[in-house]
Parts: sequence; C-alpha cells; structure tokens
Amino acid sequence: MSVPLYQLSEQQPTVWQPTTVEEALILKRKWGENSVLVSGGTWLRTRWENGLSSPPQHLISLGRIPALSGLTLDGQGHVHIGPALCLADVMENQMMKQRCGLLVQACSEIAAPSVRNLASIGGNVMTRTGDLIPVLLVMNAQVVVSDGQKERVLWLEEWLQDLNYSSFEVMTRIVVPGQVSAQMNDAGQTPTELRNTDAEHSFYLKVGRREAFTPSVVTVAGRIRIEADGTVAAIALSAGGGSAVPSRFTELEDALAGKLLIKEVLQILHKGVSDSFDAVADDYAGAAYRKMTAANLIVSECYKAWRKGGGAGASRS
Ligand SMILES: Cc1cc2nc3c(=O)[nH]c(=O)nc-3n(C[C@H](O)[C@H](O)[C@H](O)COP(=O)(O)OP(=O)(O)OC[C@H]3O[C@@H](n4cnc5c(N)ncnc54)[C@H](O)[C@@H]3O)c2cc1C
Repeated sequence: MSVPLYQLSEQQPTVWQPTTVEEALILKRKWGENSVLVSGGTWLRTRWENGLSSPPQHLISLGRIPALSGLTLDGQGHVHIGPALCLADVMENQMMKQRCGLLVQACSEIAAPSVRNLASIGGNVMTRTGDLIPVLLVMNAQVVVSDGQKERVLWLEEWLQDLNYSSFEVMTRIVVPGQVSAQMNDAGQTPTELRNTDAEHSFYLKVGRREAFTPSVVTVAGRIRIEADGTVAAIALSAGGGSAVPSRFTELEDALAGKLLIKEVLQILHKGVSDSFDAVADDYAGAAYRKMTAANLIVSECYKAWRKGGGAGASRS
C-alpha cells in the first residue's frame, strides 16, 4: 500500500483571491490564525510537507493583486520591486540586470527553474532567512509594509529586528536605492554618488552542501569601494544562511572605513565576522563552522577588492 508523503487535512483549505491589499487584510483579520498569506507558496509548502506547520483552513493568495507585482524606476534612480514578482521575472528583467546584478545572481542560485517560476522575492524576504536578504542588506534596501490603512517604510535591517512585526501586514514593496555608495543608510547621511561603478567590488557567495539546487549553509554579500590612496572609502558586509536571520556588520564596516586592508586589519575583520555572525547550528553544519566559513569568504573577497582597487600597491608606496 502506498503511503502519502504528507497528509492534507481532511477539510481542504479554501483559497481566497483578493485583488487589493486592503481586501487581503480584511480576509486575514476575519480568519486570523486559521489563515495565511500566500505568494508562491513554495516555502509554506515545504513547511507543511515537513510537518513544521499545518496548512490552515484559509489560504489568502497575493498573486492576483496587481499592486504587488510592479517593477519601476523612480526619478531618483531607486528601483521599486513588487514582492509578488517571482524570481524568474526578476532574473529576466533588463533593468534588474543592469541595476541590481547582485540580486539577479542571488535569485539564480535559489532552487531550480520550476521553483523560481513560483517563488516570490517578497516571500523570500518574509521568511526572514531567505538567501536574497544578505544581498538586499548590502544594497541598503527598504521594505514597505501595509496594515491595510497605512504603510510603514523601514530599512530592511530594521524590519528584520522589528519585534512588533505582525502577520496582519502585507509587504507591498521592496525599494533598492540606485547607484549609490554602500554607506547610504547611515542615519541622516546624504547618499554619495559612486564616481565610477567600476570602482566598486561587489560579491555574493552561497555555500551549500553541493554545487547547485541546495539550501545554503552560509551566504555572504558585500560591496566595497577603495580610494586611490588604497584606503577603504565605503563598505557594506552581511552574512546569513541556514536558519540564521541575516545581518549587516555595521560596527566592523565603521572600523574598516579609511583603513588599508593590511594583514592586521584583515585579522580583525576575520575575528569580527566570526564573533558577531549569529549562525545557527542544524543537522548539516555547526555554528562554529558557519562562522568560520563566513569569515573566510568575507576576508578573501575584501582582500581581492583591495588588490583590485590598487590598495596593495598604494600601501607600499
Ligand atoms: C525545492 C526548493 C528549494 C528551495 N531553495 C531555496 C534556496 O536555495 N534559498 C532560499 O532562500 N529559499 C529556498 N527555497 C524556499 C522558497 O522557495 C523561497 O524562499 C521563496 O522565495 C519563497 O517565496 P514564496 O513566494 O514561495 O513564499 P510563500 O511560501 O508564499 O511565503 C513565505 C512566507 O512569506 C509570507 N508572505 C509572502 N509574501 C508576502 C507578502 N507580500 N506580505 C506578507 N507576507 C508574505 C507568507 O505568509 C509566508 O509566511 C526553496 C524551496 C523549495 C521548495
């Protein structure tokens, strides 16, 4: 006798298809804990299949809300991404390739094409552990969430730490600043235009247990700009992976600004990443291994950026 992989509840869930955010949230408030907001459903489905949660009685689909699927560029060069856009759409969009190449790369390393045709960018962020988050963090992204009446705009980093986060809110937009320096989200700072985008070294690295189609053990992302005198002009670094909630290394970034990336500074960076990365152990890898991997990757990329930016030569002159 065949055994089902997982058991659906006897009463199949009801699927609701609102066409506005307001309507979705009216339904969410009506059905409360017996309901869930669904974009692609790929993450939710793995949870149901693995017995981590049960399918609720009401699925509120966000897929028919036009306002959640836009992709626009505003007058300031900021890209506004609809959270319901699937990863494949993000990857194939010309503007995204030109302006958000690192994000496109990260999308292409998630799952397989069939999943990427369903999986949404907003769903990835809303899980709080998605592989796109480290990239969005170093791009200084903001998220816009709505309770159906008013919208809140938060830095992604702020939102990840928001203890007042509510499942009765819909993410309505992700905003990625244009070609600006890595330090743009420092409170009150005016964004500095990059003088030359070639001068910026950016990276996204995902380590899994095999080459492709694998969950992440560690993901790191970064953007670095080196001055002509070899010092660090701007830097943004982040790490995540597994069940860790990704974060920026803002204290380390501040400590590196204006420095030459000589051996002693790189050692401080390695220790700093290892100490402050909040890695989570699971059956696949321990926290110590993840911390060490994140530190190795970040130091190696920063050193590459420094050499590419002429830092090694400048430090000898
Ligand atoms: C085979 C397979 C491989 C995978 N590999 C990876 C991987 O390598 N890296 C990775 O990061 N993920 C991976 N995933 C997980 C998942 O596919 C992605 O994280 C995906 O981007 C989630 O998007 P979704 O639209 O399917 O989210 P859903 O499952 O629809 O939703 C995820 C969560 O977000 C909430 N939500 C969704 N949209 C909104 C919104 N606009 N407002 C408020 N709440 C919202 C939902 O209520 C739910 O809590 C994989 C999944 C599968 C099945």
